[in-house]
Parts: sequence; C-alpha cells; structure tokens
Amino acid sequence: MGQTTGIRFETVFLSNNSPDDERTNQLIYWAQRFDKLGLAPKSAGNLSFRTKRGFVITATGVALRAAEKENLVEVLRVEIEQAQIVLYVKGKVVPSKESVLHSGIYGSRPGISAVFHIHDQLIVELADELKLPCTEGEQPRGSYELVKEVDRVLRLTEDTKYLVLKNHGVIAMGETLEEAGRLAESMNKMARKENKGRG
Ligand SMILES: [Zn+2]
Repeated sequence: MGQTTGIRFETVFLSNNSPDDERTNQLIYWAQRFDKLGLAPKSAGNLSFRTKRGFVITATGVALRAAEKENLVEVLRVEIEQAQIVLYVKGKVVPSKESVLHSGIYGSRPGISAVFHIHDQLIVELADELKLPCTEGEQPRGSYELVKEVDRVLRLTEDTKYLVLKNHGVIAMGETLEEAGRLAESMNKMARKENKGRG
C-alpha cells in the first residue's frame, strides 16, 4: 500500500448512473462478509463481477464494509498507454486501482465471471507451505507489472481459480460470485486448520 507505481490513472465517466444489476447485492454481501471474517484488514480489497460490456467493481478509497450500490461502478473499457491508464466507466465513483488486474483476468479467463481480491494474511504467510500458485517477486499494488505477473501465473495453471500475490493478498475466481466467495472462505478455513496443526 502507498507504493508509487509511476502510472497515472484517469477515469472518464460516460454516465453517472450506478450499476443496475441484481448481482450488486451479492457483491455487497461478500464485501461485508470478508470484512467480518477478517480477510480484508483495514476493510481493503476489491471485488468485481463480469457484465455484458465489462465488469462491476468496488470503488477506490471506499472500505469494503461500506460497500453499497451507489459506490459500485461499471468499468466498460480499459485503455493502457505507456504510463497512463484510462478507465471508461458508468457510475459515480472512481473504480479500484486494481481494475486493470480484474480486466486482465476477465480477458484471459472467458469462463470466469467473478474476481475477488482480498488480503488474507494467513494464506499469504502459508502460501509456500500449502504449495499454492503464487506470483514471483513483489510487484507494486495497482501496477501493470502485477497485472503481467498474474497473467503469467494464470497461463501456467490453466484451471486454477485461486492464487496468491506474494507478500500481498489473494485472488479468488469463480463462474459465479458465490463460487468465488465460497472458495476464498474455504481456503482460509483450510489454512487455519493447517496452522493449528503446526502446533
Ligand atoms: Zn491488494
């Protein structure tokens, strides 16, 4: 957090209407649940689901516990040019800085319709021990380097729906929001059991 990436973000609002999709309720449910379960320290993280034209994602600078319809935003287009990223959106708020990461995952995984990024500290600690797919090195949060590294890992592990961002957090994917949410939750349960077992 707080690392500078040298990348400039710009958000272009194509409309100020907040996303009107019934799945926003599920997104809000999981945002609050991860906060409650302690999987999102400082209530930070970003959750999204795919739409016909792009994806709906949580806002930048809004705590997960405070997620509500009015502070979700639909990203319709992501343009990347050298040190400038332009997001074309529908909504009232600035989308998560990790929108490019979400966009990359939807691009490389056509079957995936939900991407949840949270900061499960126990999983991050135990990633090696649990032999989970994990990024190499540590890329700045919100950086294009991170997007490229995640893409590399996804290519190596074609059917994985869960991966660790080294020293940072995790990404759970699903064909539905429920699948992604349950996966993130059950991985944490598994890690807690493993941790206890170590005595
Ligand atoms: Zn993060």
